[in-house]
Amino acid sequence: MTVESDFLVIGAGMAGASAAAHLALEGTVILLEAEDQPGYHTTGRSAALFSEMYGNDTIRGLTRASRAFLFEPPAGFAEAPLVSPRPTMYFARADQIAALHRFRDSPDVAAATELLTAEQAQALAPVFAPGYLAAAAIERGSADIDVHGLHQGFLRQLRARGGAVQLKAGVQAMARRDGRWVVTTPAGEFSAPVVVNAAGAWADQIALLAGARPVGLKPKRRTALLIEVPEGMDAHAWPASVDIDEQFYFKPDAGLLLLSPADEHDSPPCDAQPEELDVAEAVDRFEQASGRSVRRVKHRWAGLRVFAADRTPVIGFDPKVDGFFWLAGPGGYGIQTAPALGRVTAALALGRELPADVAALGVTTAALSPGRPGLTLE
Ligand SMILES: Cc1cc2nc3c(=O)[nH]c(=O)nc-3n(C[C@H](O)[C@H](O)[C@H](O)COP(=O)(O)OP(=O)(O)OC[C@H]3O[C@@H](n4cnc5c(N)ncnc54)[C@H](O)[C@@H]3O)c2cc1C
Repeated sequence: MTVESDFLVIGAGMAGASAAAHLALEGTVILLEAEDQPGYHTTGRSAALFSEMYGNDTIRGLTRASRAFLFEPPAGFAEAPLVSPRPTMYFARADQIAALHRFRDSPDVAAATELLTAEQAQALAPVFAPGYLAAAAIERGSADIDVHGLHQGFLRQLRARGGAVQLKAGVQAMARRDGRWVVTTPAGEFSAPVVVNAAGAWADQIALLAGARPVGLKPKRRTALLIEVPEGMDAHAWPASVDIDEQFYFKPDAGLLLLSPADEHDSPPCDAQPEELDVAEAVDRFEQASGRSVRRVKHRWAGLRVFAADRTPVIGFDPKVDGFFWLAGPGGYGIQTAPALGRVTAALALGRELPADVAALGVTTAALSPGRPGLTLE
């Protein structure tokens, strides 16, 4: 038996969950996930940060368009707040001062951050070794995101709106027949006129199954680890602290410190695992900055951040293949932009304009389009 719906969404990570929840307001939706749990890949491996300074102009627009949802979610969406305010401090050594000023050259960064002296920065995050910091900029409007709460909220919304999640349903084949996609999975056959490709690191492979040209997505592995807060210190109110050249960052995380070397290693789509060298590099940079030794790494993981060549998400109907909609390449920003990604997907998949508030923030369909110039078509 073939299960029919109006939309099939492939991939139950944050992008697919948000898109499915939004589309379910407009028609019947089935969300197909290869794994036996949603969020197993990149979504479950993030640093959970919301920062409006992160990424290019389109990313910043999508992030700002997500702010209201994250800070004041619709009634009943989540049992607890989705965000906890936490400033982000972009710090610089003396040899990085020029980079700090370049960062603040952009008018929106200058407007949303304040410069701090070394003493002010040190007072906020007293873990730095004396003399390490030269200056910093602080973004006060950033926050930690409850990634699980957000993801589960979208999945609950999807079900409440009549949609369904099908786990262990890795898409194996796709065929277009009489204006509908027929999609084959180990959990059965599904059919819908529109398929949304939200398969994360595998999105270009899904395109090949549909007979569409890949857009040249590059999965890049990033490592994260949890270490103990140095003895005698209370880190809970420290800002997320990001090296201005993004060589490493750390932030408090449930009584520990989340530390990342901010690495970006090309990787095939896979269940990414941390490599010892990257863990050692993170520890080394933290030890140099703090002048303290890290005795034990309590937990380590890695995930794939997936980028198009211009580091802008790919959202829109494929220019050549009917009914094949792309929602791919959210890079290192797919959590903080998720509410807007879902709304934009629903609007464009229904042939509507971009939501007016998103367009007003400088986001354009041309910048998101899978047919835009500059994507590496292989
Ligand atoms: C270390 C690290 C730190 C990060 N920090 C942040 C941060 O602070 N803030 C932020 O906003 N973002 C951050 N990110 C990025 C963020 O996690 C991603 O942008 C986001 O999770 C991507 O979601 P996704 O749904 O596109 O991908 P995924 O979560 O990978 O979901 C894709 C899904 O598709 C499924 N799938 C694949 N192939 C098939 C198939 N054939 N059939 C069915 N299903 C299939 C997969 O199983 C997977 O569940 C970070 C990422 C990492 C790794």
